[in-house]
Amino acid sequence: MRNIMELRWDPVLGEWVMVSSVRHARPWLPESFCPFCPGAPETGYGWKVLVLENKYPMLIPEPPQPPGHQFYVKSRSSGRTLIIVETPQHDLDDISDLDVESIKIVLETLKDLVEEERGKSYAEYLLWFRNKGVEIGVSLTHPHSQVYITPFIPARVERELANSRKFTESRGGCLFCNIVSVEESEKVRILYSNDSWAAFMPFYSHWPFEAHVYPRRHLQLLTDLGEGELKLLALTLKAVLCGFKRLFRKPSPYIMVMHQAPLKGDYSFYHLHFEIYGVMRGEGVLKYAAGMEMGGGNFTFDSVPEDNASKLRESILLCLQG
Ligand SMILES: [Zn+2]
Ligand SMILES: [Zn+2]
Ligand SMILES: [Zn+2]
Repeated sequence: MRNIMELRWDPVLGEWVMVSSVRHARPWLPESFCPFCPGAPETGYGWKVLVLENKYPMLIPEPPQPPGHQFYVKSRSSGRTLIIVETPQHDLDDISDLDVESIKIVLETLKDLVEEERGKSYAEYLLWFRNKGVEIGVSLTHPHSQVYITPFIPARVERELANSRKFTESRGGCLFCNIVSVEESEKVRILYSNDSWAAFMPFYSHWPFEAHVYPRRHLQLLTDLGEGELKLLALTLKAVLCGFKRLFRKPSPYIMVMHQAPLKGDYSFYHLHFEIYGVMRGEGVLKYAAGMEMGGGNFTFDSVPEDNASKLRESILLCLQG
């Protein structure tokens, strides 16, 4: 196989594709062996949260310069792809099964990473995400999430930046602060809230069960959060993700992503938030992103967001009651 690691520009959609056939050389391990457990070749002992390089790096700090092309645009795959092992405990189902203090340590690790990486020349953006559930192809069940530090702004974030900038220029104020305030006054889609955070199912939800989590304070980066806000974020994520877990008899698979401002430049109109997409429509029924969603780019929602919000809110409430 060719050994290629490069960014390829899609001139039709105007976005980057990361191409990598590179695999980190690692000692051979039997299939059943967990590489994230304490005592594995790269983990050692005595940690609460661990940051590891991805075995299949899409981006590395010093990548080769790709050869040029007569027509297409390519770029270097500079950046980092990391795994955050969230706990030494192998058999926890989800990050929401950790106590608030342990979730806070995960968030602090992430915050330190943002602080460390923002000065690097390749680092335009830091995307944190969490894929949960065998249904969506997660083969390693040991609780973990991933970080991509990219030399470009991810395409979805670019769209959010363009629309929120337009809102601020034409109407003034922050689009996201406005959304939070509308949700808090209408209440029907609110899922959970506390002094620093509000979680709601968006008016414009794409997925059957979706939660967006916003800090009440207008801020752009994870590093802007104070100690108290970080602790309440841990509490909020625990409650909301537990709600997803208990929604059906089987834990619901989900994708969680953090949207923060790009690491360089002034994006004071933007507002940090977290998005959680629950991909179950009902008991044992997955919602697939298929023809209309993937091919057309628009989602179909086959029930009512306000009704699903009330189901998810009840599930979160049951979690809080223990
Ligand atoms: Zn493990
Ligand atoms: Zn705002
Ligand atoms: Zn977003």
